[in-house]
Amino acid sequence: MPAYRCPHCRHLLQFEDHACPSCAHGLGYDPATDRFAHHDATSGDWRDAGGGALAAEPCANARFGVCNWLVGDLEPSTGGQRMCRACRHNRVIPDLAVAGVLDRWRRIEEAKRRLIRALIMLNLPLDTKNERYDGLAFDFLYDSAAEMGYVPQLLTGHAGGVITLNVIEADDVARERIRHQMGEPYRTLLGHFRHEVGHHYWFRLVAGTDWHEPFRALFGDERADYQAAVQAHYASGAPADWHDQHISAYAAAHPWEDFAETFAHYLHIVDTLAAIGSFGGELDGSDIEVAVDFDPYHADAATLGARWIPFSFALNAINRAMGQPDLYPFRLTPGVMLKLDFVARLVAQAGGRAAPEETSDLEAMIATLGHGV
Ligand SMILES: [Zn+2]
Ligand SMILES: [Zn+2]
Ligand SMILES: [Zn+2]
Repeated sequence: MPAYRCPHCRHLLQFEDHACPSCAHGLGYDPATDRFAHHDATSGDWRDAGGGALAAEPCANARFGVCNWLVGDLEPSTGGQRMCRACRHNRVIPDLAVAGVLDRWRRIEEAKRRLIRALIMLNLPLDTKNERYDGLAFDFLYDSAAEMGYVPQLLTGHAGGVITLNVIEADDVARERIRHQMGEPYRTLLGHFRHEVGHHYWFRLVAGTDWHEPFRALFGDERADYQAAVQAHYASGAPADWHDQHISAYAAAHPWEDFAETFAHYLHIVDTLAAIGSFGGELDGSDIEVAVDFDPYHADAATLGARWIPFSFALNAINRAMGQPDLYPFRLTPGVMLKLDFVARLVAQAGGRAAPEETSDLEAMIATLGHGV
């Protein structure tokens, strides 16, 4: 996967760019090819790097400045509007007439597009509510109580394929306050999406399938009273040894939360390694020699973990040098690696790739944990 470049002038681009910072051409991301096209103002066409015109048009949400994706001419229209593969899952968007909402919605869409791109790269099932009753939908809700500094009345969560997000989460000050109140090391819009979509895929890929019993053996029995478990977690916190089996304290609350947290971390690791790999990422020094010379979207857990541990350590050191908090304030323990392996195999099978067997590679990789990087 190459780093994104302007198809007109080859300048490097960020995934969120709407216009080239160098040649100023309008840009559109084509999810079918994982490349950007540029707008040729003379002909009105969208052109790829070879100059060819694409049969594509901007997503209808481009008119609000919140989306930079293109819609291919074979894709269905939603209510007469041509929505891209990310926006067509939106069910409720907040009232844009309210001050500050448009800017927050833009940030929410930026995070959501990174999520949807990863799901496409992994070839995971991605249906709208129009296509399947349990398809994926998003409700972005404005919470006037939270806006006034009171306890949020609308909680971010998942039910029946619908991911609800309180738009207050797009406000940096409010989200940071909540992060402190909850004692969390990491709280981002992208993290919310990766976690909540994990709940969606549990119901879609695990519940009632051949994966259900292996899930219970590893994550625990999800029939435990969910409300009571989450209330107990907030009342008394996670057990002191939660690190051994869980990627986060919250994951210890209930097997569903454990799966969603693990799924989110699988996406964190895969997407971040892909970003590293797009620049030919390689660590070679201080007795560390490791490269992202493989496709993280098709990799097994042992490969991901063996690369992620040294890279995340190095990235944390770089962030600390800049006075920033750690990029990845988490620890992969043997118990967590087994759960990541479950998710990697589940995703591989759902994406139509051979599910990697549990191999000695994973055991060998786990055996290195606790011995530094
Ligand atoms: Zn350019
Ligand atoms: Zn869109
Ligand atoms: Zn959850």
